[in-house]
Amino acid sequence: MRNSEDVWRLVEAKEPLFADLSDRIWATPELNYQETRSSAAHAAMLEQQGFKVSIGVAGIPTAVIGEAGDEGPVIAIMGEFDALPGLSQEAGIAEQRPLQQNGNGHGCGHNMLGSASLLAATAVKDWLAAQGVKGRVRYYGCPAEEGGSGKGFLVRAGAFDDVDVAICWHPSSFTGVNRAYSLACVEIEFHFSGRASHAAAAPHLGRSALDAVELMNVGVNYMREHMPASARVHCALIDGGGVAPNVVQAQATVRYLIRAETLPEMWALVERVRKIAEGAALMTETRMHSVQLSGDANLVGNVPLEETMYATMMRLGPPRFDATDKAFAAEIQKTLRQDDIVTAYGRFGLKPRIGETLSEEVYPLGSGVNSLVGSTDVGTVSWVVPTVQCRVACYAIGTPGHSWQLVAQGLAPAAHKGLAYAAKTMAGTAIAVLSDELLLARAKAEHREFRDRNLFVNPIAADLAVPLDMAAH
Ligand SMILES: [Zn+2]
Repeated sequence: MRNSEDVWRLVEAKEPLFADLSDRIWATPELNYQETRSSAAHAAMLEQQGFKVSIGVAGIPTAVIGEAGDEGPVIAIMGEFDALPGLSQEAGIAEQRPLQQNGNGHGCGHNMLGSASLLAATAVKDWLAAQGVKGRVRYYGCPAEEGGSGKGFLVRAGAFDDVDVAICWHPSSFTGVNRAYSLACVEIEFHFSGRASHAAAAPHLGRSALDAVELMNVGVNYMREHMPASARVHCALIDGGGVAPNVVQAQATVRYLIRAETLPEMWALVERVRKIAEGAALMTETRMHSVQLSGDANLVGNVPLEETMYATMMRLGPPRFDATDKAFAAEIQKTLRQDDIVTAYGRFGLKPRIGETLSEEVYPLGSGVNSLVGSTDVGTVSWVVPTVQCRVACYAIGTPGHSWQLVAQGLAPAAHKGLAYAAKTMAGTAIAVLSDELLLARAKAEHREFRDRNLFVNPIAADLAVPLDMAAH
């Protein structure tokens, strides 16, 4: 990784401070919309670095924005800091050992994600001040990426209305700028209510809400054969109606996550799932109502920005790891299945390499296959602002997303190296845009043309409440 450009040296100078921030966020894993300490740590860092800080943006207590610079284009660099439930794990070891039973853990690397983005924004701020260039950089500390659609709510509130370009990244096993592809998704809870009764002495008087959930799930399983192959539907039982089998369950709630390639395809699927829920209620003589919690659009790419980000990586050179990094990654790989490793390569259209532990290459621009992807709330931002993102190797090849192995590598030197590499890539991309009016014009023109051809309605509707307590279950 080279250090030949001014903005990269600015990143390098502050890297230890932000590696420390990442480690502190790792140590306080918090869920969707409850990221109080993580958000406060980001706000404190923004203050310390001299940004103008707004806390509680869009009525979301943990959304924080810092801005610097004046006049000129607005560059948004987006960060995240939410964790996942049930993934508590000790760092630096290659065996599953929770720090806290059923505790939270940073299983998606958002500790690194937010810290690198804040570091990139800081370097761009310092660069603007040193060069006297007109432009603004804004760091978006976005809550609740893991199913809470934090960015969708920020878009709805107009927080991106004056932004010219949005930039972000995600920790990964590999490094590069891949084809923009993610599924649109929506989370909906289906609540059933029936009638409680003694399950043995008066079963005929009871109407089971849990039966309704089970029948709904059976119906959805039959639907899977007749939906687009790229669509995904999964669910979690939020409330099974209690722990007593001798009581007919009067209440039950199931949370569905419905994903498809586009928003129209997704909403069509939602209607079918809703009919199945209504059918289940009819069959069981229960009542059903549903509540949407969140929703993300699919990602929209931007070729001029993707080429710029890739060119930045090419100038930077591939990431490098040392023998200690590779030895720990090899230990982690021993806990994985061969399938995990082969699938990781396949996701980027790469051929598996035997014995490779950490990736030290930048994969070709636009690599990636249109399958085996999830959703991201960056998708919604990408419909309203030209958006670009990259992936940067931070952990052993094959490490599954949302796994204890990922949490275990969250404090490792390799993670810090990835964090610095990502910050340099994003800062380099931002100043390329700020220094080149033509590039910005091309990025905006491509985005405008795409929008002219495609209708967009934010899946976060005007009347949808921010699901501040969705993680409370
Ligand atoms: Zn993530």
